[in-house]
Amino acid sequence: MNFKIPTELFCDSKCISKHKTVFSKFGKRALIVTGSHSAKQNGSLKDVEEVLNELKIHYSIFDSIKENPSIENILEAVNANRTNVPDFVIGIGGGSPLDASKAIALMLANPSRGSDILYHSETLPNLPVIAIPTTCGTGSEVTPYSILTIHNSRTKASISHHIFPKYALIDPDYLLSASADLIKNTLTDALGHLIESYINTRSTNISRMFCEKGFRLWNQCDHITNFKSLTYEERETLMLCSSLAGMAIAHTGTSLPHGMSYPLTYEHAIPHGKAVGTFLASYLGHADEIDRQFILQQLGYDSCESLGDRIRQYIGIVTISSYEIEFSIAALMKNEKKLANCPYKVDESILRDIYNQSVILS
Ligand code: NAP
Ligand code: FE
Repeated sequence: MNFKIPTELFCDSKCISKHKTVFSKFGKRALIVTGSHSAKQNGSLKDVEEVLNELKIHYSIFDSIKENPSIENILEAVNANRTNVPDFVIGIGGGSPLDASKAIALMLANPSRGSDILYHSETLPNLPVIAIPTTCGTGSEVTPYSILTIHNSRTKASISHHIFPKYALIDPDYLLSASADLIKNTLTDALGHLIESYINTRSTNISRMFCEKGFRLWNQCDHITNFKSLTYEERETLMLCSSLAGMAIAHTGTSLPHGMSYPLTYEHAIPHGKAVGTFLASYLGHADEIDRQFILQQLGYDSCESLGDRIRQYIGIVTISSYEIEFSIAALMKNEKKLANCPYKVDESILRDIYNQSVILS
């Protein structure tokens, strides 16, 4: 059995300035990778700029990372920085900018190569990455994954390279600007990581330890009464639950609900957490009785139906056509990694069952 999380994590109020020495470890030129609005809104970008200026680290900013970033979006950032290659990359934002920062760090470290390296299995260097999360779901700050949209295949997939950030700097106050819907969607993604890691052929006693604590933290988050006005303790619990869930999938990967979510997000622009949450109760419903009961008990639910009702209160319900279901089933049956992670036998009829229990047919 082994377990590897090489990312050093700090979780604190005023985390960036408290741990500013982290930024001077990798050189004198940084690239900040972020989305167009939220990092300006919640102060995370300003906090990083202040520290970099104080440390006399030159930096440029790429602030055009889109939700569910595509390979083309990564190339935009890479092309803008090819002549002045940075020493390290700082990702600020939700999972989209954090995942993007890993792919950009890979491509900038291999300047003579094209985007084909993203999905090519070979050992390649990458620039160091510092990850600063501002949502509470993906755990990307502690995972090696970078999930990109591939327009040619009309879906999303993780790149072939495992790139753990060197540091994760978590400040729960960056959640202050997040809407209640964003918190609920990303909290549901974290639940997906916990359930899909626990119910997984690659789970071990060590990875399950992260899930077990994660389930208890998720249960605490589930008791939050006002997602529009979170206390510091609530924000911290949301962030820690997300990071623990990230540590669990860093070891196991995810399984069917994530595999089923990607075409849903591609075709309907459904946010990641909502797309994953759609399938969770049914995925759990098909799992081994002992594991299922354990998870339900830790989360504080007496059945998959009541957990499913709660998840739908958070994320709503998705409507798709039977044509799309059949198309997605055919795609998933070819997704060897997601199928291999599922501990029960998966065939087309089980997948059809999960869809029928989870969505409304248009
Ligand atoms: P996201 O796509 O990064 O961001 C969603 C939206 O929330 C964006 O409009 C963003 O604005 C905004 N936002 C972010 N932080 C905010 C804040 N504090 N206050 C207000 N608005 C804020 O959302 P996400 O759910 O965190 O990430 C989803 C992505 O992560 C997907 O691509 C998914 O596949 C990936 N993912 C990765 C892993 C992994 O292990 N690497 C695991 C699960 C999911 P801006 O655009 O202005 O920033
Ligand atoms: Fe996820």
